[in-house]
Amino acid sequence: MAILIMFNQADPKLLKVHLKLSIDCPEVRIYPDVGDKDDIKCIILWKQDVGLLDVYPNLRMIASYGAGIENIINDPSLPKDVPVTRFIDDTLSNQMAEFVLGSILNYRLNLTLYRELQASSNWSCKNIKKGKNVTILGMGELGKTTAKLLHLNGYAVSGWSRSEKKNQSIKNYFGNKQLNLSLVNADIVVCLLPLTPETKFILNKNLFNILKKGAYLINVGRGDHLVEEDLLDALYHEKLSGALLDVYSKEPLPTDHIFWKHPKIHMTPHISSPTDKEKVARQILDNYARIKVGEEPINQVNPKRFY
Ligand code: NDP
Repeated sequence: MAILIMFNQADPKLLKVHLKLSIDCPEVRIYPDVGDKDDIKCIILWKQDVGLLDVYPNLRMIASYGAGIENIINDPSLPKDVPVTRFIDDTLSNQMAEFVLGSILNYRLNLTLYRELQASSNWSCKNIKKGKNVTILGMGELGKTTAKLLHLNGYAVSGWSRSEKKNQSIKNYFGNKQLNLSLVNADIVVCLLPLTPETKFILNKNLFNILKKGAYLINVGRGDHLVEEDLLDALYHEKLSGALLDVYSKEPLPTDHIFWKHPKIHMTPHISSPTDKEKVARQILDNYARIKVGEEPINQVNPKRFY
């Protein structure tokens, strides 16, 4: 029996090294060197080419290398009866929380701006941006940890999710009807939603129009949460004062894309919370041990919900 790794935009050999550090690791193969398809019991995926998953008769588990699973769920060859798992870990949540806090501080304290002014020996003092109301769209593993860290740092945090949450220090909104309500007071909006048919293009002109003039957007969810044209328009008309984008519809972002040179867009290359290889390897091997004895793997996603 064997594990198969099928990756794009991540290094399968590095993950194999981390898997192989454990004595309980079975044989690991890297696509396209599949060998006998009957041997494959588990496939680990990241941005795989679609249409390749339905040819493994003994497949018992599909594991996402990261937290997001939209590439897997939207693959038409995904076998219906095979559980899909994703990576859930404190390292991932804490890194994201730190990244969002850092991005907010950088924006409010004008730190990048001062670095730019330094280049022209420009001694110019700016006001700290005042608003500390943050709305987080998506209050799952990453959203709730981010909300907690922001709250501890003196931010007034609101969260929006699909289902109701009870948390005294965070104002909780849920469902489509409460989306507007969650946003009206926001100075900063953070997108930490999974990409699903319901959340695709949620960061659009209707949402921007609900916000106070001059709000700031941080998108660390997925590129297709954002309608790019609507963002450019909102920035041009100063509806939004700026945006930090970590994720894009096309990654890597083409070099001629308008975002690269936009003065109000701060870009990072999908690095807000990278997967810890050691941790994900351990989690997958633990799940592999479960399926070997007929148990259910943990951290399963619900394909009907798309997350
Ligand atoms: P979770 O599945 O734990 O949380 C998802 C949250 O979104 C939940 O609170 C859920 O609501 C909410 N949600 C889902 N659909 C809707 C909807 N239609 N309306 C309102 N709320 C909705 O995911 P994680 O927190 O682990 O990860 C979130 C996303 O972050 C990932 O899917 C991925 O896209 C992105 N990510 C980005 C990384 C990066 O480096 N940029 C790294 C890792 C992840 P409810 O609680 O009610 O279920």
